[in-house]
Amino acid sequence: MSTLPDPSAGAAVKAADRAHVFHSWSAQGLIDPPAVAGAEGAYFWDYDGNRYLDFSSQLVNTNIGHQHPKVVAAVQEQAGRLCTIAPGFAVDVRSEAARLVAGRTPGDLDKIFFTNGGAEAVENAVRMARLHTGRPKLLSAYRSYHGATAAAINLTGDPRRWPSDTASAGVVHFWGPYLYRSPFHATSEEEECARALAHLEDTIVFEGPRTIAAIILESVVGTAGILVPPAGYLAGVRELCDRHGIVFILDEVMSGFGRTGRWFAADHFGVTPDLLTFAKGVNSGYVPLGGVAISAEIAATFDRRPYPGGLTYSGHPLACASAVATINAMAEEGIVENAARLGEDVLGPGLRALAERHRSVGEVRGMGVFWALELVKDRATREPLVPYNAAGEAAAPMNAFAAACKKSGLWPFVNMNRTHVVPPCTLTEAEAREGLAILDEALTVADTHTV
Ligand code: PMP
Repeated sequence: MSTLPDPSAGAAVKAADRAHVFHSWSAQGLIDPPAVAGAEGAYFWDYDGNRYLDFSSQLVNTNIGHQHPKVVAAVQEQAGRLCTIAPGFAVDVRSEAARLVAGRTPGDLDKIFFTNGGAEAVENAVRMARLHTGRPKLLSAYRSYHGATAAAINLTGDPRRWPSDTASAGVVHFWGPYLYRSPFHATSEEEECARALAHLEDTIVFEGPRTIAAIILESVVGTAGILVPPAGYLAGVRELCDRHGIVFILDEVMSGFGRTGRWFAADHFGVTPDLLTFAKGVNSGYVPLGGVAISAEIAATFDRRPYPGGLTYSGHPLACASAVATINAMAEEGIVENAARLGEDVLGPGLRALAERHRSVGEVRGMGVFWALELVKDRATREPLVPYNAAGEAAAPMNAFAAACKKSGLWPFVNMNRTHVVPPCTLTEAEAREGLAILDEALTVADTHTV
């Protein structure tokens, strides 16, 4: 902590927040947001002197950790040179950011359309797919999150879609693979994969292949459960898309830029989509940035015909400078390799050991720094520790678990009956062990809610 705690300054920050800030996803009168005084690496702290090990990476975006000196310096340097310029100009920092992103994305995804975040990337990817194919429909998974703007929230499968689901014309949801709660009653990964692909093919056939512009999937499902697809699933979807002339969009907003221990989750499966959406880890959110990486074929659609979409801040110089510095630092410092090694040697074995000690842990799954513990009341029946989309009293066991983590200095990511273990890719082994020890303690609270 660079400054001494000052609770009175914290109180003033909170008072102004309560008076004037309208918060996301919240009943405004029922929240009490903690006031953050600073952050560095894998930690942030409040004005009362409480320091938290951030096992959420904020919203799973600070892949490089807080206040990385090279990224901070790059933003400062760029601010001194050129703060803003319209998207219609060629500028060094934007060209370089696009070159670096294109160099890391798989296959021929060599053209980059920049946005301010993930949802805008998804909006533009589906617009490109519809214009490229001339078809209206979009297929997405029930267990998914794609953003909170008009099309992106309709594509989203989780309950955050429900209140906004008034304009979902053309969006059709399907079931993806999830062996622990198999929608197909499968008993092995191979069976789950085959049945999920057969179900998707049926959906395509019954919807009418020539009406479907795109299938959008998270390469590894993020917020909706850290669901790593079985070997062969993404390749199977790729094949279905090719057979029916459907654009394949992989949403790597959360799974990209090191989170899974590779630059992109798709790299684990050797699959190249037609469009890949990214945000979050591209610059760890130091300045808002996202984008779409576009295949040569789809880019060619707009070679002589204008692309009917744009944003005032597309390719913003400060955002691009932070992306250039982030990508370079990740390569120079072996940060992606660190995430892979942590997953294999420390987090994976450590979390599996927790599952052996705690009856509330139903399943451990993930890779890199992208893990979920799925908590259950009863291991035999797999009844979730809290019901699907539980709120208020019904969510109390998960809230008690989260409170126990925070009390011991760990900031957890909790969603429904799961805690996601999603620290920065820069986490050290010692920090990982510190976090595992706190989870171990907090799980004893969850255990008290089991049968
Ligand atoms: N897609 C995925 C897979 C995401 O995880 C998210 C954000 N959690 C989004 C899209 C939306 O990104 P943003 O919040 O930057 O609009």
